Amino acid sequence: CGIVGYIGFDDVKEIILGGLEKLEYRGYDSAGIAIVNNNQVYVCKEKGRIAKLRDCLDKNVTGTIGIGHTRWATHGEPNKINSHPHQSSSMRFTLVHNGIIENENELRKKYLNGTNFTSDTDTEVIVQLIEKFVNDGESVELAIRHTMSELEGSYALAILDREDMGTLYAAKNKTPLLAGRGSGFNMIGSDAMAMINHTNSFYEIEDKEFLKITKDSIEIYSIYGNQVMREPYIADIDA
Ligand code: GLU
Repeated sequence: CGIVGYIGFDDVKEIILGGLEKLEYRGYDSAGIAIVNNNQVYVCKEKGRIAKLRDCLDKNVTGTIGIGHTRWATHGEPNKINSHPHQSSSMRFTLVHNGIIENENELRKKYLNGTNFTSDTDTEVIVQLIEKFVNDGESVELAIRHTMSELEGSYALAILDREDMGTLYAAKNKTPLLAGRGSGFNMIGSDAMAMINHTNSFYEIEDKEFLKITKDSIEIYSIYGNQVMREPYIADIDA
C-alpha cells in the first residue's frame, strides 16, 4: 500500500498514476485518486490493478493538485466503496490513508454519533472527525492536529480541502512518509521512488508531524503546532 500527492503546475494524472505504479511492489488490492478540477474534487477509485484505475479515469479531467492511494484492506473488504480516497459527509475534505486506526470504534461513539458513514473503513473516521472539529469552529490546521491527537494507531495521510485548493495537508505516525521538494511544485509519497522522476530533494518526516504544503512551500509542524525547521537531503538514486 502507498500514497502519493502533488501540488504544482503540471497535470497531475500521470504524476499520481506513475507514482502509484512505483509503489505497487508494496502490495495492494485497490487504488484511487482525487484531482482538484475546476474548483471541484474529482474522485476515481477501483478494486484491482492500477491499470484498471487508469482506464476508468476521465481523460478530460485535468488538475494541478492531486492525491493517490493503493490500499491493502485492513478494515472493510476490498471493494470500490471501501477504496480510498474517502470524503467527509459534506464532501469538503478528501483523504487517503495508509495504516490502521485502533480506536475507531471509541471515536465513532465519542464524536460521530450522528454521522452517516458510507464505507466500512477505519479511515472514514479520520476524515469525518476533521470535518466535525471544523464544524465545531476549529481551523483546518487545528482540526487535523486535534484529530491526530485522538487517533491511536498508524497513519500516513494526505488531505485536500475543497475550500482551500492551494494547500495540501499531510500527517504521519508509524507509517512511512516523505515530502519531496520541487521548483514550482511539491510532493509527498510513501517512499522516494514514488517521486524520483520529479525531484531528488526530500524532507524526512517524523512521527506525529503535520505538513502544510503549497506549490512553493513545505511547512512541517509538531502535533502541537510548533513549526519544525529541517533541511532537505539529496537522494542519490536513479529514476
Ligand atoms: N486501514 C485502512 C483501510 O483498510 C488503510 C489500509 C492501507 O494502509 O492501505 O482502508
